[in-house]
Amino acid sequence: MTGPSFADIILPLAVRGRFTYMIPDDLVDAAMPGVRVTVQFGGNRSYTGIISDVHNRPPVAGKARPVISVIDGTPLINSIQLKFWNWISEYYLCAEGEVMKAALPSEIGQNNFRPRFENYICLASSFTEAELNKILDSLGKAPRQQEMLSAWIRLSGYTESSPVAPVKKSLLLAETRSSSGIIEVLVKKGYLSEIPLEVTRLVKSADNREPVKVLSEAQQSAYNKIKNVFDDKDIVLLHGVTSSGKTELYIHLIEEQLKNGRQVLYMLPEIALTTQIIERLKRHFGSLTGVYHSRFSEPEKAEIWQKVAVDDPLNGFRLILGVRSSLFLPFRNLGLIIVDEEHDGSYKQQDPAPRYHARDSAIMLAALHNAKTILGSASPSIESYNNAVKGKYGLVELKERFGNIRLPDIILANTREAYKRRLMVSHFTPELLHAIDEALGNEEQVILFQNRRGFSPYIECSECGWIPVCIQCAVNLTYHKGAGRLVCHYCGYSTGMPGKCGSCDSTGMVTKGFGTEKIEDEIKIVFPAARVERMDQDTTRNKNSFNKIIKAFEDRRIDILIGTQMISKGLDFENLTVVGILNADNLLNFPDFRAHERSFQLMEQVSGRAGRRQKQGRVVIQTSDPSNKIIRMVLRHDYLSLFRLQTEERTTFNYPPFCRMIKINIKHRDRTLLNQYSEILGHELKEIFGKRILGPESPVISQVQSWYIKTILIKIEREKPPARAKQLIAEAIEKVSREKGASALRIAVDVDPY
Ligand code: ADP
Ligand code: ZN
Ligand code: ZN
Repeated sequence: MTGPSFADIILPLAVRGRFTYMIPDDLVDAAMPGVRVTVQFGGNRSYTGIISDVHNRPPVAGKARPVISVIDGTPLINSIQLKFWNWISEYYLCAEGEVMKAALPSEIGQNNFRPRFENYICLASSFTEAELNKILDSLGKAPRQQEMLSAWIRLSGYTESSPVAPVKKSLLLAETRSSSGIIEVLVKKGYLSEIPLEVTRLVKSADNREPVKVLSEAQQSAYNKIKNVFDDKDIVLLHGVTSSGKTELYIHLIEEQLKNGRQVLYMLPEIALTTQIIERLKRHFGSLTGVYHSRFSEPEKAEIWQKVAVDDPLNGFRLILGVRSSLFLPFRNLGLIIVDEEHDGSYKQQDPAPRYHARDSAIMLAALHNAKTILGSASPSIESYNNAVKGKYGLVELKERFGNIRLPDIILANTREAYKRRLMVSHFTPELLHAIDEALGNEEQVILFQNRRGFSPYIECSECGWIPVCIQCAVNLTYHKGAGRLVCHYCGYSTGMPGKCGSCDSTGMVTKGFGTEKIEDEIKIVFPAARVERMDQDTTRNKNSFNKIIKAFEDRRIDILIGTQMISKGLDFENLTVVGILNADNLLNFPDFRAHERSFQLMEQVSGRAGRRQKQGRVVIQTSDPSNKIIRMVLRHDYLSLFRLQTEERTTFNYPPFCRMIKINIKHRDRTLLNQYSEILGHELKEIFGKRILGPESPVISQVQSWYIKTILIKIEREKPPARAKQLIAEAIEKVSREKGASALRIAVDVDPY
């Protein structure tokens, strides 16, 4: 007996470790890594799991239960994916089952998804236009056949460069009001052919492909440099100022990979960004291109999954544009991963597990495929730039904007002064109003950035200072004027606007601070003729709302667009010349060691939207402290100074990238028990790690959804491999979780927290 007798199975549970099952004799052939199986776990509950390994090693303790059935005939998950899941679970200290839950669209492999096929008609071979005309002439005596062929030409959008262009048979018959006999004759004559193609739920893109743009001299030299670096390194950091043409460079690199028959993953931090870039990519790569993000329905996701997995030039995807979860698609042979806006914090998954960083995981995934990775940014993360400086990554720079347009002119507007001299109009400084006024006069467009949604971040009693807070979280409620409600941005709880103070009964409740909704209201008063729209979480709840707003701005049906960080990144608008940053102070004063890095990136990024074509753009930054050193660096677009300052500070105070950081979040509904158990865990960890442990501490927001929170921070040396430390952390958590009464405790580990 030689066949494997045991299988390790990944179950959709948040439990770390291996689950070994016995393979009954009749399933030995079918039980292979990557197929789904049914097994029982705990009592008699049935679960669908995935085989990660088959072997002959019986479990150390207890008796293995049998695999009940094997669901798939062929592996649903390929071997690289299995390795990738395993890496994520080990590096980010979570269960493989949690990775599986994040990775698999829920409808994948379900029978109702089995693809539907429909018959299409295309040319029997790549006829040229001249040849087609000749054929048409020859059919002069058979008008029905001639009409059929003409109809095909019309409906298919045939061109010599894409002669295949399939047309649905049913459509062709309906349009010509003929029977399928006519088509059969043309097929027999060798002009047309009939093929079954998969019916898609996805929007099918036209295949009129444009050749890629010719690179400028600076771009060409950057391109050559990237290729050179790739000869002996796997990762390149492309540091290119905003609008230097990084995307154009990516397009060239993509084309090369596709020609070599390899797949490419192009990652973006935000769904809103996929809208514009997908159009640019489809223009060149047509229907080889797919998009993937969380706004797709489960059946759509399952279909995209399928198209990435198949090796099929007509129905398959070779280029995927996606957000972080696209890393989990079943790529067959990736040649390149592009991580655009690599500095962006949205690449880090917060909750639930796996709390992975998509940039760092992308590098791992590329390595598993023997592929290259390119990280792109106008203001790289300190981590990546440090890796480039140290020679771990290659560094390639693009210092000029495409077409030699100058970087935007930055104007600092002092809000403290303006308030004092009573020059503020609502929340707008004279400098900003003047710039907007000029832009509108020239029929140019404006973007106003404020990183808070809603009308005002809180309301307050003018008599006693009482502020309404969430009933389940330790945060102030945000006032949303349109909805007429106070809303918690952490748990979604909402309540009506109180008529009077909850403490002293006074009726003098006033709004404090401002969010995008208030800016929208007030700018409409100042510029009543301007067409104003807002783009933030509240206005983009529908799947297509991003597209609608972005399209309207492109078509110049909006003069002033107000938005949160959603509008700060990557968008490319021809006629946008003025950008206003309404409040730089609340970016800079955020209590986090990355706050300065982030503010610089955000301001540089949002500024980069202005003046990308004919004309230099203008950016007005409103701040109460124009002498702030980070703002001075933004003023000069001086990334290197930021990098130097940050490396200095982080070396001194021991922060990443000069140490590894692991954060433990501990939650309990009972505050006393939380304090008790977090102290026990803290003590346990200090025994092992000594001074590397900070806390337990209450975080800035110490209660969310009725759960009280404590955090413990672990800083370990960069030089040591972290696997051993992670093992010890996992063991300490295990131990505390087993304490009497600790079952209602929730402990989450966050490796490389953001
Ligand atoms: P980035 O990604 O660095 O912000 P983009 O690739 O979006 O820059 O380029 C900025 C603008 O310049 C875009 O509108 C782009 O189409 C245009 N552009 C860049 N490179 C070229 C080129 N080689 N030929 C023509 N247009 C280009
Ligand atoms: Zn009051
Ligand atoms: Zn809340």
